[in-house]
Amino acid sequence: MTKRLWIETVGCQMNVLDSELVVAALRRQGWELAQTTAEADAVFYNTCSVRQHAEDKIYSALGRIRLEKQQRPGLVIGVLGCMAQKDQELVRKRAPWVDLVVGPGQLHRVPGLVDDVLAGGGPRLEVSLDRTGGSRAAIAQSFESYDPDRDPEMRPTPFQAFIRTQTGCDKFCAFCVVPHVRGPEQARAPATIVAEARKLVAEGCREITLIGQTVNSYRWTDGGKTTRLADLLVLLDAIDGLDRIKFVTNYPRDMTDELIAAVRDLPKVSHYLHVPAQHGSDAVLTRMKRGYSIGDYMEMLGRLREAIPHAAVTSDFIVGFCGETDAEFQTTLDLVRTADFKNSFIFKYSPRPGTKAFDRQPDDVPEVVKKERNQALLEAQAAVSLAGNLRFIGTRQQVLVEGRSVRDERRQAKSADDSPNAPATSPEATSPETMAQLTGRTMCDRIVVFDAPLRLIGRLVDVDVQAAGAWSLAGDVADGLAEATPLDSLLERLAVATTPPSPALYDIDLTKSSGGRLPQSGKSDTAQTDTTAGA
Ligand code: SAH
Repeated sequence: MTKRLWIETVGCQMNVLDSELVVAALRRQGWELAQTTAEADAVFYNTCSVRQHAEDKIYSALGRIRLEKQQRPGLVIGVLGCMAQKDQELVRKRAPWVDLVVGPGQLHRVPGLVDDVLAGGGPRLEVSLDRTGGSRAAIAQSFESYDPDRDPEMRPTPFQAFIRTQTGCDKFCAFCVVPHVRGPEQARAPATIVAEARKLVAEGCREITLIGQTVNSYRWTDGGKTTRLADLLVLLDAIDGLDRIKFVTNYPRDMTDELIAAVRDLPKVSHYLHVPAQHGSDAVLTRMKRGYSIGDYMEMLGRLREAIPHAAVTSDFIVGFCGETDAEFQTTLDLVRTADFKNSFIFKYSPRPGTKAFDRQPDDVPEVVKKERNQALLEAQAAVSLAGNLRFIGTRQQVLVEGRSVRDERRQAKSADDSPNAPATSPEATSPETMAQLTGRTMCDRIVVFDAPLRLIGRLVDVDVQAAGAWSLAGDVADGLAEATPLDSLLERLAVATTPPSPALYDIDLTKSSGGRLPQSGKSDTAQTDTTAGA
């Protein structure tokens, strides 16, 4: 009999990809996605440990699911991913009703483990070695890169896909738990990455986003030849049928001239670079063990802007890091006001057990001060983002159409609820010719809202930009047919994204299983943290 899985994902793109792959592996064994936890045979949480808040969310979800487990003791509860690796036995101490605890380096074992649990084998804990738990080789081996065959059905937008370039991280920034929970940095072979890209493109994928914790540190040496990210981009750019290539996240010191030139010269590579600065002060960057000064960062930004003047650069910032003074915070504010980031993801420092900062630096900035600084930085970035977007009014932009706007989806869901037989759910309402409010992204990763027929989803179209807000642009498809949209309608389109979007990056409940598909990540509507600014 078909078994049904409910999966909920929090965290970064790595987790989104891991969930896609776990679901695809289980589907190959006959599983289907459940619409609700009530009809599920297994409920999985793919977890994040980057901030306490992400962990708290999962522990409260586990509290809620306990009631269902009491009703149906056969329900398999699984905690996957970074929190599983970090908390290990603690997960079952806090929530003894959990059956499976599987770290990110052991996900390939999930299908077998679920079968074991269903067969009455009792709870299972499968995690990788700690970073001090053995030789580097042994630790690396215990974190297996998990990249089985893909299933386009499992992506909310089959024309977009993530590809992992490397697992783990060796940067050991003082605040960050990632090297501890995702293990040593290990590159995948270029041939494997290219083969995966070709297969995805053959299945209809048009945009690929390469993901690695520090993706531009990518390095693969074989037979005396070293392949860096710039070389990989050349190989991917040559794939017929692929339209766009993006990559995240970049480490400032590894932003080489070769990489910048590749981004400038390769036609498919998006001129969008996420290069987190984290802070504006040298003293704080030193305490964070980031390995560069603000002078180094500005030098990198200068080279980048000189080579690609219109490139969209985005950053992450942490406010309220250990010992951050008002004057130090001011330097971050100054950086945001002057560096012209397209947007910034702003986080309040959250001490993480196991990190150097946790062990050696007190978390001494009061929560109210963290909140104030967070807000001040968000506001500064919003003003910069708006000014940046206003420059696009009157331009024509090529946009990859991603889907209905949030407002359109909500409207549709509401009319379906209100009257199940109303036109919104009639066949013509979802025919390819149906006009809808759609969103897409420019080559610089800016969100654009426009009215167009549904058949354009997954296609590249030109849009004339007529209006701009801090988080999005609005305009008309440039087919010369439609009348220019009146200003108030354009403003209404912009209102679609009045809250700062959280583009599939961090700290978001972006995927709950529903309707047989993981809902779309990376859209302007993903549940919003208090910490994201820009589009
Ligand atoms: N290496 C990846 C993932 C890091 S986590 C990357 O660079 O994107 C993503 C962001 O979360 C970091 O850039 C940092 O700004 C923030 N972050 C990491 N640890 C944090 C902590 N302990 N408290 C608050 N924010 C944190």
